[in-house]
Amino acid sequence: MSILIKNGKVVTPSEISVADVLIEGEKISAIGDNLNANVDHVIDAKGLLVMPGGIDPHVHLDMPFMGTFSSDDYTSGTTAALFGGTTMLIDFVLQTQGKSLDHALKQWQGRSNGKACCDYSFHMAVTDFNESTKEEIKVMIEKEGITSFKTFMAYKGALMIDDRQMVGLMNEVKRNGGMVTVHATNGDMIDYLIAKHREEGKLTPLYHYLSQPEITEAEASGRFSDMAFNTGVPAYIVHMTCEGAHNHVRLAAMRNQKVFAETCIQYLILDASLYDKNFDGAKWVMSPPLREKKDQESLWAGINQGSIQVVATDHCPFKWEQKLMGKDDFSKIPNGHPAIEHRMELLFSEGVNKGKITLNKFVEVASTNAAKIFGMFPQKGCLAPGSDADVIIFDPNEEHILSAKTHHMNVDYSSYEGWKMKGKTKTVIMRGKVAVDNNTFKLDPGYGKFVKRNKVSGII
Ligand SMILES: [Zn+2]
Repeated sequence: MSILIKNGKVVTPSEISVADVLIEGEKISAIGDNLNANVDHVIDAKGLLVMPGGIDPHVHLDMPFMGTFSSDDYTSGTTAALFGGTTMLIDFVLQTQGKSLDHALKQWQGRSNGKACCDYSFHMAVTDFNESTKEEIKVMIEKEGITSFKTFMAYKGALMIDDRQMVGLMNEVKRNGGMVTVHATNGDMIDYLIAKHREEGKLTPLYHYLSQPEITEAEASGRFSDMAFNTGVPAYIVHMTCEGAHNHVRLAAMRNQKVFAETCIQYLILDASLYDKNFDGAKWVMSPPLREKKDQESLWAGINQGSIQVVATDHCPFKWEQKLMGKDDFSKIPNGHPAIEHRMELLFSEGVNKGKITLNKFVEVASTNAAKIFGMFPQKGCLAPGSDADVIIFDPNEEHILSAKTHHMNVDYSSYEGWKMKGKTKTVIMRGKVAVDNNTFKLDPGYGKFVKRNKVSGII
C-alpha cells in the first residue's frame, strides 16, 4: 500500500511548508516538492494541514478503579482516539500491592492484546517497591521496552508509595536508563480533608475540589522534584494543574534540573466553577481537580515558555450510571473524565485559533515532545523519511460542535457538550493505512501494535 499526500501544509515543531508526503508500507519514504510516484492512493490536501499523528501519553482504558472499570476498552478508546487525530497512546499498568510487576503487566496485556486500533505502550505504575520489585525494573526496561515508571504520592493503602520507596525506586530506575513519573499530590493532607468534609456532612462534588487544594499539589511537586534532584533520575510530573506546582518546576530549572511537566487539555480550558452545579459537577470529578483561571494562565505560559512540554488527557471515562455511585458522597464518585477524542481539536480550537500558541507549538506539545521524552523519537511524533506513517490531515477552518450524540467514546455524556469548535481532523493515517476518512472508520481491532520504547536520558 502506498499513499501520496499532495499540496498540504506540512507542519513540524520548527517549520511550516507546502510539500508532498509519500508513504510506502508503514513508513514515510519521502517529503518534498512535486513528488511523483506510482501510488495506490492520492490525497489532495490543498488548504489543509498535514501533521504527525497525536500522542496522548496519559490514558486509562479498561482500568479497574473504585470498584468499577473505566468505560472505554482498547477498541472503543483507540477508535475514539483516532477519530480525533491521536495515533499513539500510553496507558498505565497498575501493580497490585503485594504482587509483582509482571503479574500486572499480564493483566493489561490480556485486556489490550488484539483489541487496539492505534499503537500504544505502557507506563508501569510501581505501587509496592521492595526487593523483588527492584529486580523487575531492569527486566521491564530491557525486555519489555517499558521505560517509564509511574508513582503515586496519594491513594494510601492502594497505590501510594512513601518517600523511602520513592528514593529507592528512583535510584534503581536511573541505574537502568528509565524515567520516574508521578501523580504529585499530598495523599495524607487530602485524606484528612476528605474525612473532615464527610464528618461535616459536606458531600457534594464541590467538596471533592475543596479536599484537594492547590497546596497539596504544589507541596508534592516540590518534594518529588527534590528527590529526583538528589537521585539524578529523569523525572516527569503527570497532569499538572496549577501555578503552585508549576512554580516548583520553574525552581528546579534554576538549578539546572529538568523536571518534565505534562498538563491535560481540561486544565487549560475548564475551571472549578463547574463544581458549583450540584451533582452535575460529578462529570468533572477527577484528581487533581479543575483549578482557577489564574492557573490556566500559568499553564499556557508554561507551554509557551517551555516549562510544560506535553498536553495529554488523563482520559478515564465513566458512564453516568457509574458516576452515580457517588450520588450521596463525593468520595465515592469514580474519578475521571472523557477526552481522548477531543484533545487535539480542543487544543487547536482554543489554543491555536485563539492565538494562545503557535501551530508549531501545537505539534510539539500534542505529539513530538511526548515521543522524545518517552523514547519513541523519531519512530513516532515526526514527519520524516523512515518514521512511522502516522499522519493527520486537518482542516483548520471547519466548524463543528462536540456532543455525546456524535462522539465515539463509550460514555453517555460529554464534558464539552455543545462546544463550538473550529478545526477538524479529516483524514488519519495509522502506520500507512487510512484509519479515518471523513468521519468513516476503516481499521479493524488488532491493527494497533504495542510499541517497545527506548531508554531515556531526561533531556530533549
Ligand atoms: Zn491518570
